[in-house]
Amino acid sequence: MYDKRWELIPRIHFRGNEINEQINIKDALLKYVGTEPNKNGMIRCPSPNHEDKNPSCKVYSDHCFCFSCQQSFRTLDLASFAKGLNTRGRDFPTLCEEVCQDFGIDVYFVSNKYEREQAMEKVFGSTQQQEKKEFFPLTKDDLSVLGIDTMLETQWNKGSQEEKEKVELLILNRYEEILTELKQLIPKLRGFVENYERNYDVESIKKFAALPYAYEYDKILRTCYFKNKKIINLKSFIETYEKKYDVKNEKSFMLSVRSAIKKDSQVRKKYTSAEKKRVRAYCNYIASRKMFERLCKMYYFIGQNFQIDNITSEQSKCLDKIKQSVEEYEKTHDIKAEKWLFSYSPKDIIKKYTQEEKKNVKRYSDYLRYKDMLTSAEEDIKKVKEVERKLVAFYEKRKRK
Ligand SMILES: [Zn+2]
Repeated sequence: MYDKRWELIPRIHFRGNEINEQINIKDALLKYVGTEPNKNGMIRCPSPNHEDKNPSCKVYSDHCFCFSCQQSFRTLDLASFAKGLNTRGRDFPTLCEEVCQDFGIDVYFVSNKYEREQAMEKVFGSTQQQEKKEFFPLTKDDLSVLGIDTMLETQWNKGSQEEKEKVELLILNRYEEILTELKQLIPKLRGFVENYERNYDVESIKKFAALPYAYEYDKILRTCYFKNKKIINLKSFIETYEKKYDVKNEKSFMLSVRSAIKKDSQVRKKYTSAEKKRVRAYCNYIASRKMFERLCKMYYFIGQNFQIDNITSEQSKCLDKIKQSVEEYEKTHDIKAEKWLFSYSPKDIIKKYTQEEKKNVKRYSDYLRYKDMLTSAEEDIKKVKEVERKLVAFYEKRKRK
């Protein structure tokens, strides 16, 4: 179909005169006629229509003139005889282009080729470019759905035509494979899952199978409770100590006792039991503070240097939470009755299951696994269909070109 936009493009035009001027006529004679002027500057007429027995054509600087047939010839005329191309009409641009090539002349200097190309780019350029450039049809997600290295996109983008074809073939093969796989897999999985749900009471088996893990969870909760309880006990011990004693005073007392004993171990006997108790209490207090800080850091990531006397609002919030969790646990659990929890592990509980119960649990875990597989296979097939849609569009577009 004729594209009307071509009317906006100037037709190709060569400036023949400029070509003739750039080429020495003697060079043209040698190349296109295979002759050189004699010592009188004469040649036989180069015209195919004139059989010149004696040289009757005079060679000038830029043309030659035949006195016999009264014709003048320039480079393009000579080339036209040699190549069988007309110096007018449709042949002319081809003739000029070939002569330029023969003598190493830049065609852009003797034609409107540049203007023409500019106009073409302006009118067709952007659309032509878009149509020419093919974009890789798939995303990285699509490639990973097909289980293909996502680097293949780069390989396709940068690769030669051959490499592009290789990548496309790989994608098509993989797409076929995965679609076939999924189409076979999904009915099998669905059959198993539906069959299981028809024959078993999923909810009650779920509770039964989760029992060992419920115990394990209870154990974790209980451990947390004791740790939290310890933090609270430590805090109250520290507070009580600080109320009762002047910490700085107790510290210097402890240090003096310690240095005295270091010098002479016999001194120990001289201290009263009350004094010994004071030192022990102080050491206990320091150890408790350290333990308190460590536990807080461990379980609640409270700041680096936890100071009870300059507790921040964040830290006190943490402590509030600890207290809450302890209270809640005590409300909902019988602490004394739960001692047995620590003597059991999930394995012990599973051991107590009968053979039939074990099989039941095994079947249930298979069911869960297949159900998961079914869900992801169903998602995958949706994605693969999307890939198919993209590929079809891609090849349709290519075919149209
Ligand atoms: Zn002639």
